[in-house]
Amino acid sequence: MVRPIPAPRATVLDAEGRRLSPTTPERALALVAEGRADLVAKDPLAVRLHRSVHVPPPEPAAEESPPDHGDAPLLLHVCCGPCATYSVRRLRELRWHVEGYWCNPNIHPFSEHERRREHVAGYAERVGLPMHWDPEYRLVEFLRAIAGHERYGERCALCYRMRLERTAAEAAARGFQAITTTLLISPYQDQAALCRIGEEVAAAHGVAFFYENLRRGYAESRRLAREADLYMQRYCGCLFSEWEALDRDAPTGRRPSG
Ligand code: SF4
Repeated sequence: MVRPIPAPRATVLDAEGRRLSPTTPERALALVAEGRADLVAKDPLAVRLHRSVHVPPPEPAAEESPPDHGDAPLLLHVCCGPCATYSVRRLRELRWHVEGYWCNPNIHPFSEHERRREHVAGYAERVGLPMHWDPEYRLVEFLRAIAGHERYGERCALCYRMRLERTAAEAAARGFQAITTTLLISPYQDQAALCRIGEEVAAAHGVAFFYENLRRGYAESRRLAREADLYMQRYCGCLFSEWEALDRDAPTGRRPSG
């Protein structure tokens, strides 16, 4: 089931990089003008407060009867072990037959790619998740795709497209009914862009894109990851995101935390 996507508003992060309730662009710019926040990105607009805000994890909504997908086969694009934890559990609760797919040529350097991949492999074995692996590290393809589009947001849309396009192609070739991605759990990723691109590439390959707001399980995913002793990375993946994580004045956009 595809749910309506909310209209984009200004993103607000606290000092720790936690995503807060979005606000109007006018209010976000006023916070910057008042010296209470830094401008992180202009398009889409994002600001980062100078203070931390404690946000208690939301109570899971009581579901009288969660949708039952009747064990239909779904191919889950997996970006890393921590994001897979809650995502796999939730998709199984929704009665999808879930198998995983690894295709993340954005992750830099190669040693980091391998470290994340190995932790995914270990976790998949632990929870009985069948995995399919892109046999190649398509770094050159990724760099060519984003060349000239290095700003945060612009490059991310191309990054999502490359990974979801391959997921959809793999799903169609293997007879899966639907695809989705663990990226939907991260408050640092653009859900609206993920849905738009996911639906486009899925439709092009004759499969469905399944959307659920997995972010409600973000805190639980970090707990499960610590419990499973999974590697938890400090930056999103590409070389730009590593730079931005270490240098808040990096000219490519934001300073993401995960
Ligand atoms: S910040 Fe993350 S989503 Fe954006 S391009 Fe880099 S790796 Fe991809």
